[in-house]
Amino acid sequence: MDRVKKLLKKHYGYSEFRKGQEETIESLINERDTLAIMPTGAGKSLCYQLPAMIYDGITIVISPLISLMKDQVDALNEAGINATYINSTLSYDEIDERLYMLQSGEYKLLYIAPERLVAPDFRQMMSHINISMIAIDEAHCVSQWGHDFRPSYASIAPLIAEMDKRPIVAAFTATATESVKLDILKLLNLNDPKVVITGFDRENLYLSVVKGRNKKDVILDYVSSHREDVGIIYCATRKEVDATYDLLMKKGYDVGRYHAGLTDEERKETQEAFIYDDIKIIVATNAFGMGIDKSNVRYVIHHNLPQNMEAYYQEAGRAGRDGEPSECILIFSPQDIMIQKFIIEQSIASQDRQNILYEKLQTMADYCHTSKCLREYILNYFGEEYEDETCDYCSNCKDDSELTDMTLEAQKIFSCIYRMDQRFGTTMVADVLKGSKNQKVLSQNFQELSTYGIMEEYAAKEIKAMMNGLIADEYLELEGNQYPVVRLKPRAIAVLKGKETVMRKMHKLAPKSEKDSELFTILKDLRKEISQREKVPPYIIFADSTLSDMSTYMPLNDRELIDIKGVGESKVKKYGAEFIKAIESYMKAKDIDPESRPNIHN
Ligand code: ADP
Repeated sequence: MDRVKKLLKKHYGYSEFRKGQEETIESLINERDTLAIMPTGAGKSLCYQLPAMIYDGITIVISPLISLMKDQVDALNEAGINATYINSTLSYDEIDERLYMLQSGEYKLLYIAPERLVAPDFRQMMSHINISMIAIDEAHCVSQWGHDFRPSYASIAPLIAEMDKRPIVAAFTATATESVKLDILKLLNLNDPKVVITGFDRENLYLSVVKGRNKKDVILDYVSSHREDVGIIYCATRKEVDATYDLLMKKGYDVGRYHAGLTDEERKETQEAFIYDDIKIIVATNAFGMGIDKSNVRYVIHHNLPQNMEAYYQEAGRAGRDGEPSECILIFSPQDIMIQKFIIEQSIASQDRQNILYEKLQTMADYCHTSKCLREYILNYFGEEYEDETCDYCSNCKDDSELTDMTLEAQKIFSCIYRMDQRFGTTMVADVLKGSKNQKVLSQNFQELSTYGIMEEYAAKEIKAMMNGLIADEYLELEGNQYPVVRLKPRAIAVLKGKETVMRKMHKLAPKSEKDSELFTILKDLRKEISQREKVPPYIIFADSTLSDMSTYMPLNDRELIDIKGVGESKVKKYGAEFIKAIESYMKAKDIDPESRPNIHN
């Protein structure tokens, strides 16, 4: 393990292992089959990359995500580790060349998709090389019970069984319920395996749910106070993606959009622009994200309720892979439940399956309503106990929201709904309260109602937002799928009779703590320049956290630079001089005395 630790520092620039890494690596270098279940961003790649450097032979990494392979291989090469990939994006000549180089021992790691295993020329090549380990990424794909079943994963175990010398088999996944775990062990035919489970908690993610506010306002508020940050905004439909994208475009944000209605070319361009930091925000349907390994995503906002917790945690988990504090915000409106129910109803034939999905949807809705710790809720869902009483890092534990009395407004809304015979949706009710002269209102003679125009001081969207809050707090309910009408619940009657008051919480989003320092911005610009020159994404050159440490400690020579977390030897050689020069000129311009710098070892 001493050797492994040295390699960790040398190639990746890290001095410590994260939870689960050491145990997994130790088991693998002791040549034991291993299954590691660790959440997204926990650092699974290192768990097979480091042993791969220790073994005599080659490690084959099986990954279903072709789009990730190049990224991973680029990152390895940048860290001074010889690796390559073979997949359908390469020409025959390129594949031949790589196969040849493999046989001459050029590489320590080879990435392939599972389909490649059954290709005859590939199998023939396999019999000529010394394969020390087969590492199977996204191992849950082997199980039919998982949310991501891939039939080609079934060919992995039989193929391993045919090999003359059985390599060590390592399996990795971020999502595995008990049945999926058992499937992985059985279907991949792991031999007396060590199972390492680190738990699902992602401590650096601030979880929040926002209710009863206009969604677009929430998004605009948030992005305007996080202009420097990179983020993803997920919407349920293409239409909502387009609308949100247009809104942010008009306000002058660097934004891109991604959904299945765009051409392959457009999608590819947007994805590249996002990866290379040319755009900061991406608005997307859930079609976006598989294969995105970008480590510096600072926030993930869900404009709509996702269908289930597995999907939510996977999408939200794309924030903060680098371990830096990041936010996951879910904006809830009761209409979202209707939309998702409608989607399930339309797309799933089997009633049983529909019922399972409705149940999962309900759990997701409960997440939005619960007053307990959000982290605890998620971990419990995945079958894990949460020891601490509060996490102090979610919108329920850190509830600094203001309580306001809105009994009067609620009474006005309820009485208007009552007078409209509980037969209309929230838009129409809001229009009447606002005193709108639109044709729909006038044709029903609603201008005659005593509640017409009694909330004219509010914008219609504010009135609607209040109603959404009242729905979330169960004073009102929506009925019907496509054009839901809003109805009073018993609690609303008590309010109308003056027996109950209505208090509303206005959830505040965590404010941005501090602005990026000037030097940090300079270093980011330099990284961008290098990224364009070398044609590798910025975060593969150095993570944001590494640049941030550089701007704090201001290293002025190679020795000081290597002390920074995330700086390995090969990066010092490649980029050290440029970064040191930038820091030097900054310090000169600002007249900073090197002696006054903070000491990294303190
Ligand atoms: P996963 O595959 O589990 O989602 P990755 O392997 O992509 O996660 O790692 C996520 C991020 O964490 C990467 O940027 C990686 O460099 C970083 N990382 C991994 N191990 C460590 C460590 N021991 N110390 C600091 N950062 C680490």
